[in-house]
Amino acid sequence: LRANFSVIQRDTGFVNGLIVVLHDVTEEEKIEAERREFVANVSHELRTPLTTMRSYLEALAEGAIQDKELAPRFLDVTQNETERMIRLVNDLLKLSKMDSKDYEINKTWVDFVTFFNDIIDRFEMIKESHIVFKRILPKEAIFIQIDEDKLTQVIDNIISNALKYSPEGGRVTFKVKVLDGQIEVSISDQGLGIPKENLERVFERFYRVDKARTRRLGGTGLGLAIAKEMIGAHGGDIWARSVEGKGTTILFTLPYDSEQEDDWS
Ligand code: ADP
Repeated sequence: LRANFSVIQRDTGFVNGLIVVLHDVTEEEKIEAERREFVANVSHELRTPLTTMRSYLEALAEGAIQDKELAPRFLDVTQNETERMIRLVNDLLKLSKMDSKDYEINKTWVDFVTFFNDIIDRFEMIKESHIVFKRILPKEAIFIQIDEDKLTQVIDNIISNALKYSPEGGRVTFKVKVLDGQIEVSISDQGLGIPKENLERVFERFYRVDKARTRRLGGTGLGLAIAKEMIGAHGGDIWARSVEGKGTTILFTLPYDSEQEDDWS
């Protein structure tokens, strides 16, 4: 809180009033501090792949390029780092679009069960064979209004994480439940889990439980932050449940008006 004092004084010198104006600067300062932290994070996130690439390129220039074994490996590293930077910049652009006022979502009526099944099918094609998928989905269609592109990004991200952290032979379970006025979607894995104290923080921009490891896995640290914004824009909530060592479940809700659907049929 910032206070400005003005003293009201008569010609005679007597003070007969005092005006105190209080400004709530805490909110402003908080936003400013967050902005600064965000810029510092972005700079750091870009510097890490750039310095890695510089040293590998230096090594190549200094002779490793002649080495038939080293050269492809070093080029591979620089290529991976480049790709990660592109992902990072794309994620940043997505976030900055969402932060701007003219952010729009384009909702259409979609049967969520088919929509979700199609996404899972796509991952079923590319996943490693030792990972098992289990679907617990309603038999009947559930029509809701969503922005398909944005929700595809959200679900892609959650499934990618589940696969990334799944152990050998792990099961990934997909569930959709119809609740009162909403549907609840969950994606569970049997990976290493998230410590209790970090459960909410994983939705913050650039927050990672284990920075070095997730960077190695190619993450940007922005996926769940983007998911949170997009689910919020749909009027839903997103959160995580986890037991360390046992697995993680990411859950989100979306508004669902079952009566509206009845009117349709
Ligand atoms: P990243 O690009 O690092 O995966 P995310 O925003 O998608 O960024 O996730 C943030 C962090 O949350 C991850 O770095 C990881 O520490 C943790 N996390 C997310 N999903 C899982 C999961 N299924 N199992 C364990 N940890 C997870």
